[in-house]
Amino acid sequence: MPRPPRTDAVIPISVVRLDRRVEERVLQVIRSGVIAQGPMVAEFEERFSELADVSHAIAVNNGTTALVAAMQAHGLGPGDEVITSPFTFAATLNAILETGASVRFSDIRVEDFGLDAKSVNVRTTAATRAVVPVHLYGQSVDLGPIVQICNDRGLALIEDAAQAHGATYGGKSVGSFGTGCFSFYATKNLTSGEGGVITTNDDELAARLRILRNQGMRARYEYVVAGHNYRMTDLQAAVVIPQIDEYPGQLSRRRAHAAGLTERLDDIPGLVLPKEMPGRTHVWHQYTVLLPENADREDFVGSLLGSGVTAGVYYPRLVHEYEPYQRDARVVVEPTPVASDVSRRCVSLPVHPYLTDDDLDVIAGAVKKALKS
Ligand SMILES: *Cc1c(COP(=O)(O)O)cnc(C)c1O
Repeated sequence: MPRPPRTDAVIPISVVRLDRRVEERVLQVIRSGVIAQGPMVAEFEERFSELADVSHAIAVNNGTTALVAAMQAHGLGPGDEVITSPFTFAATLNAILETGASVRFSDIRVEDFGLDAKSVNVRTTAATRAVVPVHLYGQSVDLGPIVQICNDRGLALIEDAAQAHGATYGGKSVGSFGTGCFSFYATKNLTSGEGGVITTNDDELAARLRILRNQGMRARYEYVVAGHNYRMTDLQAAVVIPQIDEYPGQLSRRRAHAAGLTERLDDIPGLVLPKEMPGRTHVWHQYTVLLPENADREDFVGSLLGSGVTAGVYYPRLVHEYEPYQRDARVVVEPTPVASDVSRRCVSLPVHPYLTDDDLDVIAGAVKKALKS
């Protein structure tokens, strides 16, 4: 039977739905009179430390802050060098620069879009103090060899896990290998509107982070360092806690939708589909394909929109190619050919939990139509 024409809006790249349980929790906070950091934040930290399989989770006001605080807690500052991926959101780079440190980029692996340990190895210098792998789109980078490099050379491992809540590598959660930084921004797999968390198994580091977060106070008006206000509010924690209960179900829907897309798209010549690597669990924050070499990405995205499908481009250029970083001597750029190629060809298709089988058909049909023209 022919499908009736779609009269509703286009299929969005992400959808936020908050249920009655969130409403009730938020009301509970409002009625309690404690709306800043309080018992709800403590409960959120407890719940997230279980999810990430770590002994400490420290809630902060966003994912960028989580990165800045993690780097500050590791003592990074001017003169130190941090190695990260050029294929990431600006927050990763901005956080490094905010600490005063310099940044040097390593190339990525095309299979998982994450830092390539071989490239990290050759770009490490005497000034290198930390490595910041980015678990992009919901899949862990190949952490094993990176952990090895960090251990051998005494480097801090700070994981940008903003897109990868609950992703695992070798059976262990991301954010538990080094110091983990998660975001709870509106479009992430788990959200509090704005929010962040730092995860660690290091008791001392956790204590330093709690002090940094709260104006450098160990106890009321007992200042031990010059800190900051990085605190999350109980209102934000109330929004995210019920989502943690729902998360396993949400993940199985994301996983089913990724499988559904792969099933429908795997016979298109030159189109590279995302894969879950052996020994890892992908949490499908994005379903990101690489277009055939000769395809025009702008035309492709436009054609999809014409067919009722929103596509996202994360990220259209390498992060250091933007104007503010061009004249910054702390941003050290060396060639990263894989990352350059990937940034030219990547497109993300909707994979969120609220797609229907019909939506998957529409998305696959739109992709086929766009690539034929
Ligand atoms: C979202 C994101 C961040 C920053 O998180 P915010 O909560 O928006 O500050 C950092 N890194 C990556 C890779 C992200 O996707």
